[in-house]
Amino acid sequence: MIAGMEQVAQRACTGALPGWDQVDLLVAEAYEYARRSTDGAVADYIPILAQADPELFGVAVAEVDGGRHGVGDVGTEFSLQSISKAFVYALVCQALGHDAVRERIGVDNTGLAFDSVIAIELNAGHPMNPMVNAGAIATTALLPGGSPGAKWEAARAGLSAFAGRPLELDDDVYRSEAATNQRNRAIARLLESYGRIEVDPLAAVDVYTRQCALRVTAADLAVMGATLADGGVNPVTGERVVSATVCRDTLAVLAANGLYQRSGEWLFDIGLPGKSGVAGGIVAVSPGKAGIGTFSPRLDPAGNSVRGKLATAHLSRALGLNIFASAPWRR
Ligand code: GLU
Repeated sequence: MIAGMEQVAQRACTGALPGWDQVDLLVAEAYEYARRSTDGAVADYIPILAQADPELFGVAVAEVDGGRHGVGDVGTEFSLQSISKAFVYALVCQALGHDAVRERIGVDNTGLAFDSVIAIELNAGHPMNPMVNAGAIATTALLPGGSPGAKWEAARAGLSAFAGRPLELDDDVYRSEAATNQRNRAIARLLESYGRIEVDPLAAVDVYTRQCALRVTAADLAVMGATLADGGVNPVTGERVVSATVCRDTLAVLAANGLYQRSGEWLFDIGLPGKSGVAGGIVAVSPGKAGIGTFSPRLDPAGNSVRGKLATAHLSRALGLNIFASAPWRR
């Protein structure tokens, strides 16, 4: 259990959020609660990420009825990083269908670090988990489009539809990572050696590196999450981005794998599908209700934003979002 969380009364997961005012109040409360923590460290393995201001913090909620909430730095842009994996996975599921994606990529947690090479070897080249780098690069390779440029356009357009606004590439982040991503290139080559990637592996890594360098805000993350919560329709723009079946499949994968090797712990404490990224973003999804987006660059050792986890935990309890929390029908 996250320290102190027992003080937040656990409401049962029911069919609706409380009214807008109540949600607004609880978003502010979650922000204040999580802001007290200065635990964790800013990521530095991608050189430019080390320059992030560790004090930045924002909490945003987007409801499926279009209601919006936000406290703190919810308009500050940062790079999507690993969170892109969740939405590119949804786009690829939409293009290829449930069975083909399951067969090629898999849905299980490797239990190993996000950039593990051993995980590929242990599974005879099968990527297993689309939320860590091997599976994510293999997923990006399956994006619609006959060329790397077309795949990149499909990723950018699809992720923008989830956000409800055109997302731009952060060129500095892209270049910083492209110059230092030898490990991802090695992972792609290893997948190629097992016949698990059918396009130029380095071109797939390049598209993957670009999708990770798209700029978003915590408010964007909330809307992207709300689109997955709303059966694939963006509640702000009204655009259908993916099918309801794709949302269901994507959320199952996020529940099992979204928070790196801490995915079980996150589910135990928070009880929501979610995905984190090393720039400090976290998106969490309450199916049928809302998306939660948080941003704070200090990370736990697995790469998850510490304040983001605390704020999401608070909201999950106080808003009754934990998908495992019920109350007896006969009271
Ligand atoms: N672009 C990063 C990488 O591939 C994403 C890592 C992450 O957010 O987990 O190393």
